[in-house]
Amino acid sequence: MERIVDVEKLNFEDVDEASLRPSNWDEYIGQEKIKRNLQVFIKAAQKRGDVLDHVLFFGPPGLGKTTLANLIANEMGANIKTTAAPMIEKSGDLAAILTNLEEGDILFIDEIHRLSPAIEEILYPAMEDFRLDIIIGSGPAAQTLKLDLPKFTLIGATTRAGMISAPLRDRFGMHFRLQFYSHQELAKIIQKASKKLDFFCEDDAALETSRRSRGTPRIALRLLKRIRDFAIVEDEETIKLHRAKYALDELGVDSEGFDEMDIKLLKLLISANGRPLGLSTIAANLSEDEGTIEDVIEPYLIANGFIEKTARGRVATAKSYSHFGLSMKQQPNLFEDMDE
Ligand code: ADP
Repeated sequence: MERIVDVEKLNFEDVDEASLRPSNWDEYIGQEKIKRNLQVFIKAAQKRGDVLDHVLFFGPPGLGKTTLANLIANEMGANIKTTAAPMIEKSGDLAAILTNLEEGDILFIDEIHRLSPAIEEILYPAMEDFRLDIIIGSGPAAQTLKLDLPKFTLIGATTRAGMISAPLRDRFGMHFRLQFYSHQELAKIIQKASKKLDFFCEDDAALETSRRSRGTPRIALRLLKRIRDFAIVEDEETIKLHRAKYALDELGVDSEGFDEMDIKLLKLLISANGRPLGLSTIAANLSEDEGTIEDVIEPYLIANGFIEKTARGRVATAKSYSHFGLSMKQQPNLFEDMDE
């Protein structure tokens, strides 16, 4: 099922997404602490005449990790090579990437928690000593060939802080956890993007859209583009509040930005009546895989106090109940549509 509030990149949108990507720090809204720190470390590396230490970004999809990697490259005046861990299947794949790097290059590896242990082993000496150890042959005749690599910066991004191995994590000199964006920050992002799309988005329309974007720029931009389509059809050159509301309702995005999957999850937890539900139970009920629930659906609900994660499982909070007009004392047999 395609979700309009899906945070994953959609292939057909990649070109468009690239055109809206901030190209300097001023355009990159929010994440102020990360920005400040990075600017210091970049300046220091430049003063030392050295490459930047390896950087690791944690955080749910769509919050701006890839964008930060590109901004770092811009600022360092470096080339950036981008790949994702699932594309590095064999040790030869990584060796080819590493030997093609030039001094000062930035290598960006998305979803870095998905590297296999064998590939990680190759990455360790490359990160620490800029050295590639290649094993030729097997058994007693095997030999290790050591190749020097140019100095480079590895930037890793992961949606799953807990799944990255400790030895790999420790080899990154800097760790940054991205936060969900406030409504005001998202409204700014929406307005800057609409300018780039040659559209004007009024303040209250931008704020309404940001409220329904699950704290995530990728979702905000996707919603903006769909709202723009509704405006175009009506021959409107400015996005006004009533058009934004109408479009968002038509798209099935509710007042909190929840879509069908969020609602199903919350209703399931409310129906459990205070009994904590484990991830596997939730996954089975929603016919969704556990990884998607943990990485994509629940982080925003947890960060905003709709769900509580306890040692025994997930429970709905009072805020969830009130979203559906219920109180925690009510018996929630009100969801007749649950099995549909
Ligand atoms: P991630 O790598 O974390 O999945 P991206 O860096 O690809 O996320 O960001 C998704 C989109 O959101 C990008 O196209 C970018 O234009 C926009 N974006 C992300 N963060 C910001 C920000 N802080 N300010 C403005 N736009 C942003």
